[in-house]
Amino acid sequence: MKGKETQTLRCPVCHKGRIIDAASGTDPSCLNLYGPRQSAKAQWFAKCPKCGAQIGITFPKS
Ligand SMILES: [Zn+2]
Repeated sequence: MKGKETQTLRCPVCHKGRIIDAASGTDPSCLNLYGPRQSAKAQWFAKCPKCGAQIGITFPKS
């Protein structure tokens, strides 16, 4: 068994805040992160813990 290695997707606004973790090896292009100006495109939302920006998320394959 491998450990629970993850890759972190960071805030597209400040590039510091941790928005979501993906399993290691997950193709990052399987989801998109949007800054507040593009949030109309998004289906899901998270808030950056660093800068407080509302980050939109979409899963293009779904
Ligand atoms: Zn941020």
